[in-house]
Amino acid sequence: MKPIGENPPIYVTQPTLPPLEDFLPYLQEIWANKILTNGGPFHQQLEQALADYLGVKHISLFANGTLALMTALQALRITGEVITTPYSFVATAHSLLWNGITPVFIDIAPGSFNMDPAKIEAAITPQTTAIMPVHCYGHPCDVEQIETIASNYGLKVIYDAAHAFGVHSGGSSVMNQGDLSVLSFHATKVFNTFEGGAIVSPDAKTKRHIDHLKNFGFVDEVTVVAAGINGKMNEVSAALGLLQLKTIDQALQQRASIDAMYRSGLATISGIECPAPPEGTVTNHAYFPILVQQDYPLSRDALFQKMRDASIFARRYFYPLISNFPMYRGMPSAASANLPNASRMASQVICLPMYPGLSTAQLEQIVQLIRTA
Ligand SMILES: *Cc1c(COP(=O)(O)O)cnc(C)c1O
Repeated sequence: MKPIGENPPIYVTQPTLPPLEDFLPYLQEIWANKILTNGGPFHQQLEQALADYLGVKHISLFANGTLALMTALQALRITGEVITTPYSFVATAHSLLWNGITPVFIDIAPGSFNMDPAKIEAAITPQTTAIMPVHCYGHPCDVEQIETIASNYGLKVIYDAAHAFGVHSGGSSVMNQGDLSVLSFHATKVFNTFEGGAIVSPDAKTKRHIDHLKNFGFVDEVTVVAAGINGKMNEVSAALGLLQLKTIDQALQQRASIDAMYRSGLATISGIECPAPPEGTVTNHAYFPILVQQDYPLSRDALFQKMRDASIFARRYFYPLISNFPMYRGMPSAASANLPNASRMASQVICLPMYPGLSTAQLEQIVQLIRTA
């Protein structure tokens, strides 16, 4: 037996950071030109560089993903009710509440982490104005079915693409789907700018409107066209983003090889399932979710605790469901009976540690622990 505490803790993720000396020239430039924010040179460069890298036309940077979600809803003047998923991070539904919009939860599809398009129509009421799906763990939603229903009913679609940085499906960026897509560059995400986020727009006019909204509604020194907010990304974050982009492909490759090692290591363990994204996806391996089934010797929570005891801090994403938090619980659509697949998923899932610096030895330690439960 190894004494407790011999291995350093392994967290579910660890932020990717470049060597500090590579960042210093960027900081020197900021200190020299004294432009700290308000759409400075690094902000402009990062918008262009991200549009090129992601394969999208127009992108507006934000201070974080939650402000970007809230602004996306404002930009499209979404009101009333929005159909969304309970199987996500709370910010998805919170962005609706902050806009005075009622979230209407529908279940996830069987065998998927994403909203079930077959459940959308029954949830539409005269108050419904939009759908807010999430590409959970970077697995693309059934975008075609969602698009068909949205266009039949005249609904907008705003994708919460916080997990989907760089994800392609059917040969195109998933960020090109829907009316708008929202990204997060939080420290825990695949691509980080300390804190940050973005909205992808299909046309220049929409981007311009969003750029006004994120800067108090200012168009020029004396013209304010909307009750905007302060959602701007600062120059230090934008500079870090430019530097991160230089190594993002390497980071994605490292994630892919960790994903492959987990899959082969866990393949023969009965009761452990490792869901993969749909066929035809170029994914980003943002997370590594496993499902603990009935025939595994331990319950999900017992395995989770056993990992904690070994200083492996995996996470039960997404448990509890958003619909179980107090501000949502009383809504009719939040009832567990309405959300059987999401409820089951939330009771089975563990996201294993996944980040480029995770060593093979650490990975083997995690697999071994799951094998010997
Ligand atoms: C991280 C995340 C957000 C919020 O992004 P922040 O940049 O942390 O504000 C929203 N939705 C989902 C699904 C997320 O994972």
